[in-house]
Amino acid sequence: MVKDVIKLKDASTFESTPDSCWQSELSNAQISLDDLLSRLNIKKEHFDQFYDFSNFPIRATESYLKKIRTGDPSDPLLRQIIPHVDEKAELPGFINDPLNEEAFNPVPGVIHKYYGRLLLIVTGACAIHCRYCFRRHFPYKQNLLTGEAQNRALDYIENQKNIREIILSGGDPLAANNNYLFQLTQKLSLIKHIHTLRIHTRLPVVLPDRIDNGLMKWIEQWIQSSENHQLVFVIHVNHPNEIDSSVKTAIEKLKKFDILLLNQSVLLKGVNDNENILIELSERLFNIGVKPYYLHTLDPVKNTAHFMVESQRAKALHKAIRAKLPGYLTPSLVREIAGEPAKTIIQ
Ligand SMILES: *Cc1c(COP(=O)(O)O)cnc(C)c1O
Ligand code: SF4
Repeated sequence: MVKDVIKLKDASTFESTPDSCWQSELSNAQISLDDLLSRLNIKKEHFDQFYDFSNFPIRATESYLKKIRTGDPSDPLLRQIIPHVDEKAELPGFINDPLNEEAFNPVPGVIHKYYGRLLLIVTGACAIHCRYCFRRHFPYKQNLLTGEAQNRALDYIENQKNIREIILSGGDPLAANNNYLFQLTQKLSLIKHIHTLRIHTRLPVVLPDRIDNGLMKWIEQWIQSSENHQLVFVIHVNHPNEIDSSVKTAIEKLKKFDILLLNQSVLLKGVNDNENILIELSERLFNIGVKPYYLHTLDPVKNTAHFMVESQRAKALHKAIRAKLPGYLTPSLVREIAGEPAKTIIQ
């Protein structure tokens, strides 16, 4: 049984190595609007400093900040992290939980919508706060996978015999430390019908040092603990400027293993709603060995309407990139409609 005590023989070896500095970069990621603007040499009047966004403060790692152009208030990477005055707008249809995740939350920490796979909310923490985030109003406090809640989640998985794949999500699952991940997946290893572990993470892009030795051991451990075990990484890049040499190095480490590496993006007004940028994004992903998987249309989450790309334009953009890229570099344009058995592919 999953509840049995598992001997963690040398869990300590899965702790981050001492030379890894990602934890301090992660804990220093919160930044005030003033500090952000002064660092980037951008005048205050471009943004409204009186808007109260304290329930979703600005967060961005040093690795991300250094990829933003200074002096450019419309930089596409800046736009993803800066609270725009338009966040204040209250628009019909833009609500806290448009995906109705609440209805698919059978036990704390589990979101189970689709056949054969489910999502574990490993942590509410992220290294970067993406202003368009579809979980920016998610009730993380009620979904912590600690203590008894973790046992309940594991029991739920154990009882759902058709589940083959566990998606580690959040927040960012890799914001959890190696020791925690190791303990969690060791318990998942005991559930024989689980074959695939999928990691939905932005950290290889916004905190490349996170791919440290302990994480590599963890990956190896999962893959080698059963011949049925597979691993999928779905990273999250929206704009080609997010990919620099340190991201490439992080991905190269992952490529040492037999892992499927995919990317998902969100189509965002003022960030990547442009044919050439989307093409360049696919080509850069290919260059680092990652296959474009999904291009999501924005979920109508409260405070994010300024990122919405109108549906006709989304389709036209997708058609335009499809005409210029090989099929394997064209992500599927998808929308999530609550209650559907899968993401809806937009033709
Ligand atoms: C998007 C999503 C998945 C994964 O869907 P795939 O099409 O397999 O990538 C799984 N569960 C939930 C709740 C999701 O929102
Ligand atoms: S990293 Fe993912 S979960 Fe975290 S804020 Fe960005 S989109 Fe949301």
